[in-house]
Amino acid sequence: MFFEADIDAVLLDMDGTLLDLHYDNHFWLEFVPQQYALKHQLSLQQAKHHVYAQCDKVTGSLNWYCHDYWSETLGLDIHALQHKTKHKIQLRSDTLWFLEKLKQLNIPTYILTNAHRSGVALKMQQTDLTPYFKKIISSHDFNTPKENPRFWLSVKEQLQVDLSRCLFIDDSEKILAVAKQSGVGFLRGIATPDSEKPAQSMQAFDAIKQFSELFKRA
Ligand SMILES: [Mg+2]
Repeated sequence: MFFEADIDAVLLDMDGTLLDLHYDNHFWLEFVPQQYALKHQLSLQQAKHHVYAQCDKVTGSLNWYCHDYWSETLGLDIHALQHKTKHKIQLRSDTLWFLEKLKQLNIPTYILTNAHRSGVALKMQQTDLTPYFKKIISSHDFNTPKENPRFWLSVKEQLQVDLSRCLFIDDSEKILAVAKQSGVGFLRGIATPDSEKPAQSMQAFDAIKQFSELFKRA
């Protein structure tokens, strides 16, 4: 177990790591196309086709995560739609246990998310997690997503941390790879970001189902 000696700070992704990705998957893949179909008088299938095609165009860029971009592109008020569905926002199963544990261990903990500030605010309001974090960073603040090494330079500068002594946990293998290249010392994936889907495996990183696995002795 590496917490006692080697870790100065824990950096955590939000959606799919702290929070159940089922909310976002349902929102973007089902609810948004439904609303788009209603607004533009299309069948659900036509609306899905259109929305998914628009998504493909910007995957991995900051726009993919930007509510303003989607409100404009789809002609829907994404912020208002998120409010309508906020009761579906849920923590992953042992998130609170893990955050309490980090608090007891006195390890500074940060959120690093690609989510738009309006989504972060809504999700923190729904889950009451804010007090557990020393700081919550949205990549929109740096104008570059976590998929870009420039994001990690900004994190290092702003948090004044030695990345080689940080643990970073994210459900995206692509983002973990960039974090590793950028010097983050300890990395873990999430095998079960969406509670309604089968577990995912990762090629290059250990993926955990439960945070408690981090505390098991090898
Ligand atoms: Mg995520």
